[in-house]
Amino acid sequence: SHSLSVDVAIIGAGPSGSIAASLLHKQGKRVLVLEKQHFPRFSIGESLLPCCMQFIEEAGMLEALNAAGFQYKNGAAFRRDGVYTTFDFTDKFTPGPGTTFQVQRANFDKLLADTAASFGVEIRYGETVEAIDLSANPRLSVRNEQGELYQVEAQYVLDASGFGRVLPRLLDLETPSSLPTRSAIFTHVEDNISDPDFDRNKILISVHPQHQDIWYWLIPFSNGRCSLGVVAEPQLLARLEGDLEQQLLTIVKEEPGLKALLANAKVAQPCATLKGYSANVSRLATDKFALLGNAGEFLDPVFSSGVTIAMQSASMAAKCVLKQLNGDTVDWPAEYSAPLMQGVNTFRTYVQAWYDGRFQDVIFYENPNPKIKQMICSILAGYAWDVQNPFVKDSERRLNMVVELCRQEAELSTEPAVSE
Ligand code: FAD
Repeated sequence: SHSLSVDVAIIGAGPSGSIAASLLHKQGKRVLVLEKQHFPRFSIGESLLPCCMQFIEEAGMLEALNAAGFQYKNGAAFRRDGVYTTFDFTDKFTPGPGTTFQVQRANFDKLLADTAASFGVEIRYGETVEAIDLSANPRLSVRNEQGELYQVEAQYVLDASGFGRVLPRLLDLETPSSLPTRSAIFTHVEDNISDPDFDRNKILISVHPQHQDIWYWLIPFSNGRCSLGVVAEPQLLARLEGDLEQQLLTIVKEEPGLKALLANAKVAQPCATLKGYSANVSRLATDKFALLGNAGEFLDPVFSSGVTIAMQSASMAAKCVLKQLNGDTVDWPAEYSAPLMQGVNTFRTYVQAWYDGRFQDVIFYENPNPKIKQMICSILAGYAWDVQNPFVKDSERRLNMVVELCRQEAELSTEPAVSE
């Protein structure tokens, strides 16, 4: 058994791990990334938000990403009961990038990790973090593929293990999610979409005609395929018969718009399912460790916020780690957890309002005020930390005001005209 010592140990080489590692390495810190799997490996979370491009640029990876040939993305489209509406991410309130990509995560995550490695970051694949000792400097117990256990001592540990949730499990930090349990069934299809009006530059979110809280994603890639998935509370999927593929195809055909679009689609990889992915934690950071991305809070996939939150947390945590390693005191709750949660909680407001129908009434409202639409568009583009935006600063109250307006207008416009 041997042991080694670094400045920062990072658990996981997904987007949050690669970005954090690059930022710290750039500042001359000795970083070691421990990754359980070998890349490329499948991961869900394929539609990015423009806001995350800032962190990719900050980490010095923008050029590599732009050259990789992923599907360009400039917005989001929504369909409910035949009503189709779009948000153009370049027409938004908050300054910053307005376009991004739709990515096969196996390739995307490998690109980020390889770019980090090309800067000199050490990433060890096939090495699993199994335990942590916090009695002095943090010490990780790591198992390699020969089955041997060794120790890594670090000044600081970043948990970027995503749904692995390594430190929340080892340190008993998990708390129940504020959101109900939902399941997703998903696959990739050879889409064969012939509709000339179909916009491959946008994610399409469709609402089930009978259940407003069941929704589908359709995320076009640059290779003629799409990611296709459905999200619902598990009891609403229980009626579906057959294997996962039959279940997915049955429920997809219940939405007439998707049924028509995907009439010639062929399933291109085995269907998979995930359940109960939403999670909360009692604490996001101390002076010895911080949780990044999905290892901390995970809300819901409906607004594609996961990778953006992961990268935002990586960027914020890297700044705090540098400050601490350089000898200053960091107030982790005030300097990391609270500002990170500002944006997470903004997304939470919109996620809850999506499922109870309030936000859907805003999204599908036919006559939106352009200024308000730009502010909402900023949030859909990922800029949930911009407190200049009233829909961030005061999200619940502002949203409810707009919901009221839309509902009143919609009622007025459906009242029969007074005839005399
Ligand atoms: P991950 O990308 O999960 O990386 C974690 C890494 O840690 C993995 O490589 C894993 O092998 C490694 N690891 C785990 N345990 C250990 C261990 N013990 N030791 C060493 N390494 C370990 N997000 C979006 O932005 N857009 C979307 O469209 C979107 N759609 C989604 C749809 C669904 C159904 C779900 C559930 C999520 C979706 N997400 C989406 C969220 C997205 O998947 C995550 O937010 C994102 O992958 C988080 O990145 P990460 O870097 O935190 O972790």
